[in-house]
Amino acid sequence: MKREGILFIISAPSGAGKTTLCKEVIDIFPNLRHSVSYTTRPPRPGEVHGRDYFFVSREEFDRMVAAGEFAEHAEVHGNFYGTALKTLEEYRKCGIDVILDIDCQGARQLKEKYHGGVYIFILPPSFQELRRRLDTRSSDSDEIIERRIRGAAWEIRESRWYDYIIVNDVFSKAVEELKSVLIAEGCRSSRVMEAVSELFEI
Ligand code: 5GP
Repeated sequence: MKREGILFIISAPSGAGKTTLCKEVIDIFPNLRHSVSYTTRPPRPGEVHGRDYFFVSREEFDRMVAAGEFAEHAEVHGNFYGTALKTLEEYRKCGIDVILDIDCQGARQLKEKYHGGVYIFILPPSFQELRRRLDTRSSDSDEIIERRIRGAAWEIRESRWYDYIIVNDVFSKAVEELKSVLIAEGCRSSRVMEAVSELFEI
């Protein structure tokens, strides 16, 4: 079966558990990859260049923007992030499905440019729980946590235009829901018909 790769665009306010959820499903689905973004943010302890992000200078990032090398890019919490167009095109042509863990501004840019992407939003069960999760994450300063909570209210409102919303209350349930979306989208009639087009030629 040969079909084009599917773009799964996943957004959430930080602390909703998006990164952990994405890692979980990438380990399960052999045909699913994570799109490694470019960022001007400095690496956090344990982060690896080329695996978590491509960490680049502001000058290099601006050069890539000017050269049209990004499918989308945005400023998030004072740093710049972008998805390389080339990476997406390569995955699509090779029939590899890809998860883009990006913010709402970037998701909107893709929605306007591409057809066929699947937009998934991960919500925390409550603001109280979101704050608790951010407080227990030791890597960020109090100032950064406050900034993220303020941004969360805006991001949560953006969830309205996404195709799917998953509430990450019980993690194992959220994983099952995300897996279900990924599987169902692979069975969408238009995609299956493309993959077995010869069956429809007679
Ligand atoms: P963090 O710095 O915590 O890894 O990510 C901060 C935010 O930037 C998250 O909401 C994440 O989804 C978003 N982000 C990561 N990569 C990209 C990207 O390539 N484009 C956009 N628009 N947002 C991104």
